[in-house]
Amino acid sequence: MARPQQQNLFADDELPENLAAWEVAAQNDRLLAEVVFNRPLTTVYHYVVPDALRELIGPGKRIEAPFGRGNKLTTGFCVGLSTEVPAGRALKSLTAVLDREPLADAKLLELTRWIADRYLCGWGQVLESVIPAGVKSRAGTRDLTFFELAADFERRLGKTRLPAKQQAVVAALQSAGRPLRADELSEAAECGISPIHTLRDKGLVVSRRDRMLVASAELPPPEPHREIVLNSDQHRAVRDILSVLQSGQHKTLLLHGVTGSGKTEVYIRAIEEIVGYGRQAIVLVPEISLTPQTIRRFRSRFSSVAVLHSHLTDSERHAHWQEIVSGNVQVVVGARSAIFAPTPHLGLIVIDEEHETSFKQDTTPRYHAREVARRRAAQERIPLLLGSATPTLESWLRVLRKEDSLISMPKRVERLPLPPVIVVDTRNDPQVRQGTAIGRALFTAMNSALKEKGQVILFLNVRGFAPVLWCRACGEGVRCPHCDISLTWHKQRGVALCHSCDFEVSPPPTHCPKCGHGGLTHLGLGTERLEHEVRQRFPEATCLRMDSDTMKQRGSHQTALDAFRAGEVQILLGTQMIAKGLDFPNVTLVGVIDADTQLHQPDLRAAERTFQLIAQVAGRTGRSARGGRVFVQSASPEQPAIQFASRHDYLGFASAELEHRKVLQVPPFSHLVRVIFRGPVELDVEADAQLTADKIRAAVKEQSLAVRVLGPAPCLVTRLKTLFRYHLQMTSVSLEALRAAWLAIAAEVPTRKDVEIVVDVDPMNLR
Ligand code: ADP
Ligand code: ZN
Repeated sequence: MARPQQQNLFADDELPENLAAWEVAAQNDRLLAEVVFNRPLTTVYHYVVPDALRELIGPGKRIEAPFGRGNKLTTGFCVGLSTEVPAGRALKSLTAVLDREPLADAKLLELTRWIADRYLCGWGQVLESVIPAGVKSRAGTRDLTFFELAADFERRLGKTRLPAKQQAVVAALQSAGRPLRADELSEAAECGISPIHTLRDKGLVVSRRDRMLVASAELPPPEPHREIVLNSDQHRAVRDILSVLQSGQHKTLLLHGVTGSGKTEVYIRAIEEIVGYGRQAIVLVPEISLTPQTIRRFRSRFSSVAVLHSHLTDSERHAHWQEIVSGNVQVVVGARSAIFAPTPHLGLIVIDEEHETSFKQDTTPRYHAREVARRRAAQERIPLLLGSATPTLESWLRVLRKEDSLISMPKRVERLPLPPVIVVDTRNDPQVRQGTAIGRALFTAMNSALKEKGQVILFLNVRGFAPVLWCRACGEGVRCPHCDISLTWHKQRGVALCHSCDFEVSPPPTHCPKCGHGGLTHLGLGTERLEHEVRQRFPEATCLRMDSDTMKQRGSHQTALDAFRAGEVQILLGTQMIAKGLDFPNVTLVGVIDADTQLHQPDLRAAERTFQLIAQVAGRTGRSARGGRVFVQSASPEQPAIQFASRHDYLGFASAELEHRKVLQVPPFSHLVRVIFRGPVELDVEADAQLTADKIRAAVKEQSLAVRVLGPAPCLVTRLKTLFRYHLQMTSVSLEALRAAWLAIAAEVPTRKDVEIVVDVDPMNLR
């Protein structure tokens, strides 16, 4: 069988024998490759292209070249060709070209360079990250042959008895019920490739090459199409989007539509038009919303949908990539990285739930998919559509400044009202004061909802039983030995667990690790404890908990939601996993157990996140004529975020919060660059942070940049996964000034071996 693709496409004997001689020759007529490496460097390096590689080299292909002090052969990307020899040093030569076809076209090269500039990282790092591993290794390209039983298998077989191995192959195909790739089949049948080939030679098994099978094997079937007549708001929205498309110019449109206003239907109609012109669309959704329900909705309306989610294997991802490049895919639905899908003739980009923080990548390159989408849409002169019931203040401010346009859908479809939101002050609730999760008002509401055969959703953003184990004697909480975070007690599993690094103590400590006092108190409330309480207080009802502890297995998420949809479960409780996007008409009550968990975080977006959360959770009810109610328990009910959310008043919240941020000159009125230093020795980390801060301050002064430098200081979570963390922040109204300040010193940042430096532009996470 063919081996997977080799790293180096060219055998040694294809390379020039005497590299040095070739080098001299090449210097004379000077074809140079511009190369970037997977390093945090802004430099583009020049290499001589030896004659033997001239026909093969091209932008977007990977090469191998000697790099750095030791001239170690290193893989890089060719990003351009030139004939101008830059002044200065002697040039080295490429040693190999690794790809026959470019992995990135001119547009993707341009986009990735923009990302490197915008997010202050290396161009090579960006290319390395956005081109899927399966595309680089050409995973599965030789293996897209699928095997299935011949249609007339029984007849052909007749009375023949097959040898055991071949029988196993037949049994594997029968039980799979779908065509299998050779590797899948030989694994399932626990045999090599030869019995499969023998069966094929006998005509009992047939093979065919089919890329889309890889793509569609695991996708749910389309949902039967229900004819929807757009209401006037939806009509107007579709018209606005198409008029931007027809103008041939880029524009960003913010679709602000309350939960249940029919935003998805608007996306679909706009995409139908675009597909009609032979163009493609990319729809980004948060990974958590890539549910079969969402996928089915798109598949029922388009004949060719590629779904890019994080569970794809390398070869599946590669198959999708090929299919997208060929133009056969109409709609690409995926999480953040789908923004790089190589659609040949893109017509529209949609970002649903624009406010979700998961659109920002939290490893290098730390790009925000919304900003990359904006750039790509500008490059391709097409509309970018951002949809949300609770847009980020960044997007809202752009609308207020008339940089982007607004499309409003303030009403739910079919004149359904938004549910009333009742804020319950838990400070006066006798039950909550005694330590129960569900206060009196919510308890009563749950009882009546259940009596009327409605379903209930309870939301609590903390998993485990109790988030704090606390010693009464010395007043210390039990912390993770590797992180500055207290351990959460998971009663069912019988462990105390760190939610940051997964460190666990089993069984959980019974004595204080500091003072040895026996009997630790557990404080606070997690979903596990909430479930315990619900089962005790509502013994008649079926209850289901959804959080990352109970939903570990692939598919369990769907099974749970199906059970809830079918009415087998009356009370669904869980973390943010259940706050988003779910549409269950029979849910007549939603309870937010503690609205304050995010509110008191030292984060500039604490109020915004609280508002979003309540609005999104409230969106889960009142989705049918049965109506619905929302109870929000809070110990600070007077907080504006909670008050505005209870009135469904996004505009009121946005203007109050923007006012507040403007006074403080924080985002969206300024940009932030956060530089994090982390390493095993605290003094080293601190010293490097200090040195860097000093250099930046000097550069800012010298160039008179309007940049404020804060810190360095220990991060909020100073120790994480055994590493000490310090950070400094630069803020400015001008992103340009921030970049100038960093680039002025980037080449001189300390490079102590065990201190890692992370640059985060427009960070979402400040911990
Ligand atoms: P959103 O994304 O704004 O929360 P959805 O697009 O999910 O809203 O729509 C909510 C529900 O309303 C869906 O079941 C959808 O099929 C339905 N729907 C959408 N538009 C209409 C319409 N014009 N008339 C009736 N039902 C509609
Ligand atoms: Zn830890």
